[in-house]
Amino acid sequence: MVASLAPSNTIAIIGGGIGGLAAALALLRRGVNVDVYEQSTQLKEVGAGIAISSNGTRVLDALGLKEALARIQVVSSGREIRHWKTGETWNWFELGENSAQRYGTRHMFVHRGDLHGILAEAIRGLKSNAIKLGKRCVAITQTDEHVEVRFETGERANAAFVIGADGIHSKVRECLFGADRPEFTGCVAWRGLVPMQCLPAHISRMPGTNWIGPHGHVLHYPVRRGELMNFISIVERDDWKIESWTVEGTTAELANDFCNWHPDVHAIIQKIDTPFKWALMVRGPMERWTKGRITLLGDACHPILPFLGQGGVMAIEDGYVIAACLKRYLADPTTAFARYEDIRRERTTAVVRKSHEFRKQAFNPALADNDAVAVSVAQKWQQALARERLDWLYADDVTALQI
Ligand SMILES: Cc1cc2nc3c(=O)[nH]c(=O)nc-3n(C[C@H](O)[C@H](O)[C@H](O)COP(=O)(O)OP(=O)(O)OC[C@H]3O[C@@H](n4cnc5c(N)ncnc54)[C@H](O)[C@@H]3O)c2cc1C
Repeated sequence: MVASLAPSNTIAIIGGGIGGLAAALALLRRGVNVDVYEQSTQLKEVGAGIAISSNGTRVLDALGLKEALARIQVVSSGREIRHWKTGETWNWFELGENSAQRYGTRHMFVHRGDLHGILAEAIRGLKSNAIKLGKRCVAITQTDEHVEVRFETGERANAAFVIGADGIHSKVRECLFGADRPEFTGCVAWRGLVPMQCLPAHISRMPGTNWIGPHGHVLHYPVRRGELMNFISIVERDDWKIESWTVEGTTAELANDFCNWHPDVHAIIQKIDTPFKWALMVRGPMERWTKGRITLLGDACHPILPFLGQGGVMAIEDGYVIAACLKRYLADPTTAFARYEDIRRERTTAVVRKSHEFRKQAFNPALADNDAVAVSVAQKWQQALARERLDWLYADDVTALQI
């Protein structure tokens, strides 16, 4: 007889990524018992940065993490645009002080591992054994009374309700709704980190920088109190279709993808120890996220292309809302899940769609012409337009929702 890992009156979360941990912390803060089952044997995130806009920092602050975040974050001090070939620089928009004034909270850059560590510490402070590692979910079944989760180890866990927060390749989603059909976008994303002291002074600065050019986009910003520079680039390529951050590339291959770009781009690339590459895929919207006692959150139900930097933030928002719904309808979590879906569907669908649309602006073959870049900056990269595009996202406050 295989021992059951959890009492059957708890909520089980499958996946201890940013969304799963945010949901677990939000539930524990509201006094709801929860266990998190994570496949990795160590709790860690990929070595890369993440931008958390004000709509996300507002949630993390509400979860009691403001002081801990202050020890690791970089508060954005502005954003610059640079010409892929000439290096000409334009100010894009100010997010530091302005973000706090305009949206009520800061826009920050953090190392994913640091954010993850802070979430895990806060969870363990409330329930020391809440996060269970080395638990890869391989199957999930439910009856009218409970859900049974099976793991690769042969162990099983019983729970009253389950939240699948197991990311883009979600096993929980597959068990509920069958295999998905991702479509390759023709874009590959690269990520890497560089110690700030390895970069020349004119690059190791605090404003985030977006390099715009034909067939590609480069972005870099500081993380971990400004000790590291986070590098992300996206390039049009059709020869790489693996959607995984554990796949290592080489700096030579990355440099080749941006071979005619400005020397400052290459100055960063050359200092990346291990660049990782990820093929960007799209999936059609799901009609529903819930079946019976099981629901989904984050990338498991609405994976988002990275062009608006919102996938992680949406997972954090989902986690907060699902906890509020479960607390409100604790006696009837089926209603809680229905309410959660109602609240989250429209917003996340809009983010998925707009991220897809923004891809077209980021990849404009006309930018191969040097003069076209200045025209594009004047027409498409103005502060007023950025605000128009982002205000509805950044100003939203899920902590104020009437559930
Ligand atoms: C290039 C790039 C840049 C990005 N930049 C940003 C940004 O700046 N801001 C932003 O908000 N978002 C950004 N995103 C999106 C963001 O990374 C994701 O949307 C976010 O990580 C989703 O969180 P999640 O918790 O849903 O899933 P994940 O972070 O993928 O976490 C899923 C967890 O589940 C675990 N797991 C998986 N399968 C199982 C299983 N069978 N059993 C148990 N555990 C399992 C995994 O190990 C993992 O820990 C970016 C994405 C890309 C590709």
